[in-house]
Amino acid sequence: MRALVLTDDGVRLETDRANPVAAAGEVRVRVLRAGICETDLQLLRGYKGFRGVLGHEFVGVALDGVFEGQRVTGEINCSCWACERCHAGRPGHCPHRTVLGILDHDGAFADSIAVPERNLHLVPDTVDTDSAVFTEPLAAAYQIPTQLAIGKSDQIIVLGDGRLGNLCAQVLASMSDHVLVIGKHPNKLRMLDALGIETRLLMDRPPHGAADIVVDCTGSESGLTTALDLVRPRGTIVLKTTIAGTQTLSLAPVVVDEITIVGSRCGPFNRALDALAGGLVDVKTLITDRFDLSDGVRALQRAGESGVLKVLLCAADHL
Ligand SMILES: [Zn+2]
Ligand SMILES: [Zn+2]
Repeated sequence: MRALVLTDDGVRLETDRANPVAAAGEVRVRVLRAGICETDLQLLRGYKGFRGVLGHEFVGVALDGVFEGQRVTGEINCSCWACERCHAGRPGHCPHRTVLGILDHDGAFADSIAVPERNLHLVPDTVDTDSAVFTEPLAAAYQIPTQLAIGKSDQIIVLGDGRLGNLCAQVLASMSDHVLVIGKHPNKLRMLDALGIETRLLMDRPPHGAADIVVDCTGSESGLTTALDLVRPRGTIVLKTTIAGTQTLSLAPVVVDEITIVGSRCGPFNRALDALAGGLVDVKTLITDRFDLSDGVRALQRAGESGVLKVLLCAADHL
């Protein structure tokens, strides 16, 4: 099969990769669409030292198991379900887990992928395949309200107008009347304006301490510094993006202003699929470009260009 593989010498398309073998509890899924996200670009820069088939946002058709022949999407953490953390209801933090396309498990930028059956979610008929590929990043946005209470009157600033910033802003705007997105790209901010979400360019950002909650979706080392400037004393900063680099900022303001910093990663797939089925979020306007899997290397380059939102990889027979 074809697969986009990250090797010691960078990423390359393999055309004769062996089909994935389903381990115990896994089923094979023929990939219809896969989305490229910031994490993939960070993996290319060395984050986690991953080697193998990239890709963790996907929709496909289950080739066996209870969903055989139906469209599915899948949660990315492959947990052991036997350890203390799994038993405590935190399988996403299982120390023995692998993660699709991120940690010790081949991912979805391939003709097919093996996924634990319990990770799979049926895609409702009313959700088209292009929309369903956003389930994973949309679920990550819905993780925020599972971690902190969001009130109608909360002043929320989302830093970053990219893929994840856009989805987080849409989710939070359904819960608070005061969501402001701060970004660097007028064209991306205009898309949020069109959804009725307030936006500003970074250089016009509000004064120090303006926000109750700041959500950092910048994917850049400077995001946390900006967030610390914008959050009010005793406010909360949510960190949504993983970054390959390291931070060197002073943490004294966190202590002095008693700031809460919340790391936030994967979220509830059911809630994301419900939102897609109910038309509560607009995802398809985020698709900037699509490539056949055979052009996957070019697709990854494209996803890293400025001004680009979501780039999809498509199976040849479903382009
Ligand atoms: Zn992702
Ligand atoms: Zn476990």
